[in-house]
Amino acid sequence: MATVTGARPAVGVLALQGAVREHVAMLESAGARAVPVRRPSELSEVDGLVLPGGESTTMSRLLETFELLEPLRERIAGGMPAFGSCAGMILLAREVLDGRPDQQQLGGLDVVVRRNAFGRQVDSFEADLAFAGLPGAPLHAVFIRAPWVEKAGDGVEVLATVPGPAGPDDPPDGPPVARIVAVRQGAVVATAFHPEITRDERVHRLFVELVREA
Ligand code: GLN
Repeated sequence: MATVTGARPAVGVLALQGAVREHVAMLESAGARAVPVRRPSELSEVDGLVLPGGESTTMSRLLETFELLEPLRERIAGGMPAFGSCAGMILLAREVLDGRPDQQQLGGLDVVVRRNAFGRQVDSFEADLAFAGLPGAPLHAVFIRAPWVEKAGDGVEVLATVPGPAGPDDPPDGPPVARIVAVRQGAVVATAFHPEITRDERVHRLFVELVREA
């Protein structure tokens, strides 16, 4: 099964749609051997998997078409480290609000996420975040039609928050709410933003380290 070449673990990038190349480049420079994953046989070769940003509804459909949905659910349930950014976070969540009714979940994170949560007026924005476990400067985070985590279970560690607008379930015109935008539960990490499109490798290094330990 899993192949570790020296200290370079094989980390897959789900390559059905979305920001695949950026993650491959980041993983390579963060000390992993990056492997695009499109088939169950490729999934079985990797020690961990990145689920990129893109469109979660499209990815969900392609997971079914490529017969990856069940194998991926099984590996995640079996403890394979996984890192989801943006649409990847949505796929890993237990439940999605404002998703499509036929959208499939992989599980792995005991969270409820709200899709496109930050609203149309701020489809894209950037912020500097304090990110738990990352030493050094705040993390520059790019959000693109990003979700937020609306509810997190007891086993979920909140790694970062950003001040956000009131959601559909909050009083209107209330003060900014600290929105959860990065979480970890065991070997599963997710960010509502896109660390792969900055030049800061720290989140990928953190994930590669987690894969090495697993
Ligand atoms: N809004 C997208 C979705 O619902 C996610 C956007 C992204 O990955 N940048 O999947």
